[in-house]
Amino acid sequence: MAHDAPTVNAYYSPLENNINFPAGILQPPFFDRNADDAVNFGGIGAVIGHEMTHGFDDQGRKYDARGNGQDWWTPDDTREFEKRAQCLVEEYSGFTAVGDVKLNGKLTLGENTADNGGVRVAYMALLAYLAGRAEDKIAGFTPEQRFFLGYAQIWCQNTAEAQARLRAVTDPHSPGRYRVNGVVSNMPEFRRAFGCGEGQPMVRPDACRVW
Ligand SMILES: [Zn+2]
Repeated sequence: MAHDAPTVNAYYSPLENNINFPAGILQPPFFDRNADDAVNFGGIGAVIGHEMTHGFDDQGRKYDARGNGQDWWTPDDTREFEKRAQCLVEEYSGFTAVGDVKLNGKLTLGENTADNGGVRVAYMALLAYLAGRAEDKIAGFTPEQRFFLGYAQIWCQNTAEAQARLRAVTDPHSPGRYRVNGVVSNMPEFRRAFGCGEGQPMVRPDACRVW
């Protein structure tokens, strides 16, 4: 009997319409029982939001509540979704994976939609959690800032150049750098948290928003 390393990942199943979090991902940097709550909302909270959003990405939206392959959206909703998703396609297609290789915005659309929607869902959960609580700074950072720092930490990674080239054409996930910068530069919530002004690198004038 094989004893594999635990899976450090999570997934959404459109057929069962559920989200799944194997024990392997419930550890730092995704979840740390000793970290403050804002950091965990930005970590495992964003992962939970990500998996939920897969139910409403370019693939997941084609399954109904019972997991049957059926497009249950109105034509208006579909049109609006496709318009907003196209914004993400163009944004991520502009990011450089390595050297002269750009990301493929279509290949990564579902994951990018889930990243962007997931962080927003988790952020909303953080605000609901914080309501009425004292908002102390920790190490000089507000809870909102710690949320985004927690999110950035989960995608901190090193990738060899050859691997980055391969992944740019095969991996439906964007590289960690863009999973972070692509998302936060779309979020007025991030801009407010860190007091960023117009024209600064993490403020996109043509910010995308699907969810
Ligand atoms: Zn995903």
